[in-house]
Amino acid sequence: MMIRFIGISLIALLFVSCGNTSKELAMNSSDEEMQQEKKYEVTKTAEEWKKLLTSQEYNVLREAGTERPHTSPLNKQYAPGTLVCAACYAPVYENEHKFDSGTGWPSYDRAIEGQVERDVDYKIGYARTELKCNTCGSHLGHEFNDGPKKTTGKRHCINGVALNFVSKGEELPALRK
Ligand SMILES: [Zn+2]
Repeated sequence: MMIRFIGISLIALLFVSCGNTSKELAMNSSDEEMQQEKKYEVTKTAEEWKKLLTSQEYNVLREAGTERPHTSPLNKQYAPGTLVCAACYAPVYENEHKFDSGTGWPSYDRAIEGQVERDVDYKIGYARTELKCNTCGSHLGHEFNDGPKKTTGKRHCINGVALNFVSKGEELPALRK
């Protein structure tokens, strides 16, 4: 009788844990769906973006391409100023947070708070943290954990073609809506 009771309890426990798991899974998938349906402040069709961007900008920003390293004039440009998204012109990085990573891509230890979103990208077979403009969803680059230990420890590896530089003191452009 006792054994049977334990048996039933175990089965009940199993059901409870299975129930939790499937509930968690359901929540995760709805989170993902929500992310896919995220409404950006600046939203355009592929055709509209193609008209506004060069083919290289379109490839990086809208197709998550990667520019060849050491090709961006911004790579080692440390003048005071702000980097805006080359698609929608929202400010995304401050040049004071730039450091020389030696990778050949402009690298920052942090983004302007709230201006860059993180996503997961499995493009090359394993998970990488993709960095996207939080205003228009355009691809900027990836985040890695081998940045300067003295500050954030993060390395935002950004395609220079995804950024426009605005010198300190110059007015930031209006959003390209
Ligand atoms: Zn943008």
